[in-house]
Amino acid sequence: MKVDRGDRGQKGLAYQKEAAVNWDPVDWTVLANEQVDSEGRSWRSGAKVERKLLRQWFLKITDYAEQLLVDLDKLTGWPDRVKVMQANWIGKSVGAYLEFPIVGSIEKIAVFTTRPDTAYGVTYVVLAPEHPLVASVTTIDRVDRVTAFVQSIAQVSELERTAEDKPKRGVATGGKAINPFTGAEIPIWIADYVLFEYGTGAVMGVPAHDHRDFAFAQCYDLPIQTVIVSGQKLEVDRPEESKSAYTESGSIVNSAQFNGMNSIEAKAEMIKFAEEKGFGKARIQYRLRDWLISRQRYWGAPIPIVHCPSCGIVPVPDEQLPVPLPENIELSGRGASPLAQLESWVNVPCPSCGEPAKRETDTMDTFIDSSWYFLRFPDAKNDRQVFDSTQVNDWMPVDQYVGGIEHAILHLLYSRFFTKVLRDRGLLNFDEPFKRLLTQGMVQGLTYTNPHKSGKDKWIPSNLVDPTNPIDPETGEPLETIYTTMSKSKHNGVAPEEAISKYGADTARMFVLFKAPPEKDLEWDDADVEGQSRFLNRVWRLVTDYVESKTEPNQTVDKNLRRAIHTAIKEVTEDLTGEYQFNTAISEMMKLSNALQDTKDKTSVTFAEGIKTLLILLAPFSPHIAAELWSQLAYEGYVHTQKWLEFDPEALVVDRITLVIQINGKVRGNIQVPASADKIALEAYARNSEAAQKYLEGKEIKKVIAVPGKLVNFVV
Ligand SMILES: [Zn+2]
Repeated sequence: MKVDRGDRGQKGLAYQKEAAVNWDPVDWTVLANEQVDSEGRSWRSGAKVERKLLRQWFLKITDYAEQLLVDLDKLTGWPDRVKVMQANWIGKSVGAYLEFPIVGSIEKIAVFTTRPDTAYGVTYVVLAPEHPLVASVTTIDRVDRVTAFVQSIAQVSELERTAEDKPKRGVATGGKAINPFTGAEIPIWIADYVLFEYGTGAVMGVPAHDHRDFAFAQCYDLPIQTVIVSGQKLEVDRPEESKSAYTESGSIVNSAQFNGMNSIEAKAEMIKFAEEKGFGKARIQYRLRDWLISRQRYWGAPIPIVHCPSCGIVPVPDEQLPVPLPENIELSGRGASPLAQLESWVNVPCPSCGEPAKRETDTMDTFIDSSWYFLRFPDAKNDRQVFDSTQVNDWMPVDQYVGGIEHAILHLLYSRFFTKVLRDRGLLNFDEPFKRLLTQGMVQGLTYTNPHKSGKDKWIPSNLVDPTNPIDPETGEPLETIYTTMSKSKHNGVAPEEAISKYGADTARMFVLFKAPPEKDLEWDDADVEGQSRFLNRVWRLVTDYVESKTEPNQTVDKNLRRAIHTAIKEVTEDLTGEYQFNTAISEMMKLSNALQDTKDKTSVTFAEGIKTLLILLAPFSPHIAAELWSQLAYEGYVHTQKWLEFDPEALVVDRITLVIQINGKVRGNIQVPASADKIALEAYARNSEAAQKYLEGKEIKKVIAVPGKLVNFVV
């Protein structure tokens, strides 16, 4: 039922319907499809989800399926795997809608197929056990078996029913349909793998050209009719002997006037034929289904609807929004929605006719709020509107968003949907909420488990374990040591406060940035925290020593040090733009710090440039230490307000390199040569070197191997 908001511009995107939904038996609430994982478990409680028939509120995200798919191309700053996950979730397929008349009835079975080119190979049709036509097509002699089958399927989850590795189960109804292309009578079956919620809840069976149909036909001895053969050959293989379905394209056979056609062009031709004859039409279908937003929980925003006996569903008027949650509620944790029990809250006059009516007692999925919270940030103090469009359009979209991969088809899909809806309402002037997306890795903790124990007892708290000899303190059994995502039940959490109080916030921060690229998981390792602490201490001593000995710098230019400085600027800048590589940026700072440490003349202008550069590069990573050292050096302003550095390409040019001299592969010395020297020049330099003169005297040179930039080897 659509909510009619008349002149208030309602788009009919919210509706209520009865549907088989995912029921979380632990949290006592329904869940959206996006909130059930690939094992059929709740994203929140981890409970195995059950199927229940309930009347629920939905948002019509399917109206935006095509846009959500097409606009993925605009998201050049998103990881490909997130875009692939969204595209698969939306699941667009192009095909045809066909109708199979039921023998002895005026009813027809509608199917959607992506392979209309196989229509002449349809040898049976299958209905979902929940399909409303099941009762009418079932013949009297089959009623008991069909009823038993339908009942047995009602308890099984969608995931189990469609698992590819499971045998398909089905039963014949005794009813018959007509293949509208061939006119042949074909049996009507019901089977577990056909879901009523997907497509039309019925499929056509083409065992010769579909793996699942082939397996089903083999199992129940249904006829197999080949209608496509590979390549140009027009003979039909004996399909009853073939061991698998032929699912590729090819040449059409056994298909009347379409014989000899290429199967790809036959698709369009057969759809045209079906349209002309009135039993089918071209159709695009999406796997995406509408977003179920009803929850039977206390938390979450109440759905702002009033149910009136005379007016029906009435939206709460704008001036009464938002509907706040009542505070004086008793949470029993079980039973109906907690709001339903609070009569003083439930009973309200109808906003339309004023007669006694009742509030909707379902609350909204909390993902509703996270779908637009970021739009509130630019105008957070606005108490008249949700936000002022001018403000939001000025600041948004978000330049850089950070969020876990677990949100790929939840928050990140819902936010895109909300953005498009609000854009279409004229409230936003952009199509996509987040320009760039970084899906960060997780911090994993050292975890001890006892493989002989089960449930939560198998996780042993690390404070009870000696890391040099990990045994179960209760049983003495040896423990397994792994790194895994931190959680309370695994007793493997690391409080960053500990590292902060021991080493300081800068070290803790440097460790996290250094240990792994931001999109990868990182293993919390105390030794590596220590490593970052040592590095920052080295920087501290380097700079404070310099502060103490600081004099007016001499004007000597140290070319090698200058190259190190500008290489660091170049590399760190690159690591902070494009792909974020904080770990390699820190490596570059370590190199620069070492180069400064190893420099003999610490009074040159180049050394002074190096110290300043190191602090500016370090500032985003280790903000407190960089700021403190900056002030000790009495530089102007603050390190955090300095302009970011640009590298000098001239400084990067290597003019002289070290060339290794080898005799028969043994290193005998080295010399400095121009970096641009070619092989012939290198050989000449090498022959004149002291080492060569000494070791080659009186020997016959058989071969000279020159490797530019590296070495010259004399074989004697
Ligand atoms: Zn009313």
